[in-house]
Amino acid sequence: MSTEAGWKEASWEEASQESVAAPDPAGFAHPDTVAVLAGRRSGGAELAPALFPTTTFRIPSLEVGQRMALDPSESHYYTRNGNPTVAAFEEAMAELEGAEASRAFASGMGAVSCVILGLCSAGDHIVAQRQLYSGTQFLLQAVCPRFGIDVTLVDGTEPGAFQAAVRPGRTMLVFAESPANPRLDLVDLEELGAIQGPLTAVDSTFAPPSITRPLDYGVDLSLHSATKGLGGHNDATLGVVSGSAELIASLWGFAVLQGANAAPFDAMNGLRGLRTLGVRLERQSATAQQLAEALFDHSGVESVRYPGLASHPQHDLAQRQMRMFGGLLAFDLAGGNEAGERFVEAVKLAQVATSLGGPETLVTHPASTTHAGLTPEELAAAGIGPGTIRVSVGLEHGDDVVADLVHAADKATAEFA
Ligand SMILES: *Cc1c(COP(=O)(O)O)cnc(C)c1O
Repeated sequence: MSTEAGWKEASWEEASQESVAAPDPAGFAHPDTVAVLAGRRSGGAELAPALFPTTTFRIPSLEVGQRMALDPSESHYYTRNGNPTVAAFEEAMAELEGAEASRAFASGMGAVSCVILGLCSAGDHIVAQRQLYSGTQFLLQAVCPRFGIDVTLVDGTEPGAFQAAVRPGRTMLVFAESPANPRLDLVDLEELGAIQGPLTAVDSTFAPPSITRPLDYGVDLSLHSATKGLGGHNDATLGVVSGSAELIASLWGFAVLQGANAAPFDAMNGLRGLRTLGVRLERQSATAQQLAEALFDHSGVESVRYPGLASHPQHDLAQRQMRMFGGLLAFDLAGGNEAGERFVEAVKLAQVATSLGGPETLVTHPASTTHAGLTPEELAAAGIGPGTIRVSVGLEHGDDVVADLVHAADKATAEFA
């Protein structure tokens, strides 16, 4: 080894030792600070996430390899089991959620289906709420019965409804979503966390950890479609589940077999997204509040659903369990289906697309798109009216967003208001 190479090696070692002394996120109470600091433990001195696209790793010996194959926390054995880039995202999420451990998935539905099918067996019973993301609803109503898993759906906004549906000794899982699709209904997390016996899980996609941390309320598992607000840039399809180390380890075996592991590239984008989580949610929440108030006063708008409005039926609960009210809202236009269709044709800044939590303001008219096949009764049961519009507020200037949507509401309802 030449002297120069020796010097280079020494300075690299020094640099990587310095990285060990990076600020410890555990010392900070604000999730926005944790989001900037977390998920750097295993890295070198780099500030941005390092991408490990490798599918596999050299093992030191057969004996060690055998141990690595069975270790849920091993990130240097085979990427379907674990991967360093994915582990950095998982560490950051665990830190943010106040959890012992997290497991990342190829999508939000990967996370949801692993929790439901990984924890429940034939003969088990699940209590879930009626207000759910359509994929989760389909899994519970069409897939679970095929495997002999019984599902009871309750109104998640009704006090005591989850507890009342629990069958002692048979209910394995109580599954909630808060705020829920599509009308921003809330579940009382304190009440949910107090349920004894079955495991409790919350899909908290609409309320990332800067807004709500379900585990603080005694809930066992917090789930996210990180495709949405956590990733925040519409460039990562990703899911994540957080909870006790024991529970995450018990899900791990099924997750490895299910093969819905997060791709390293998506985990890298997810971790990059987390760094700006706090400011993005602040801007989106501020604009959504401004928009909700403007629409509330609009003569062509029949009703507005936003947790930050005093008119939201659970506004008190929202104030108790949400630090901000988020970027999602729903409203009903006078003039039904025709007004809804005109509205999405009239927007200029907002874009018509499925998904939420990204930089672009997105609008959907469920009755003519995602839920077009449903009868009026089925639509009503899903909380969707013919004139319902769902908005995911983006990062554009609030005044521009409000002007665009108010103008579209003017045009859509001119003859109905
Ligand atoms: C989008 C979404 C999911 C599914 O996530 P994917 O990443 O699309 O698989 C689950 N739950 C909620 C609340 C969602 O909004």
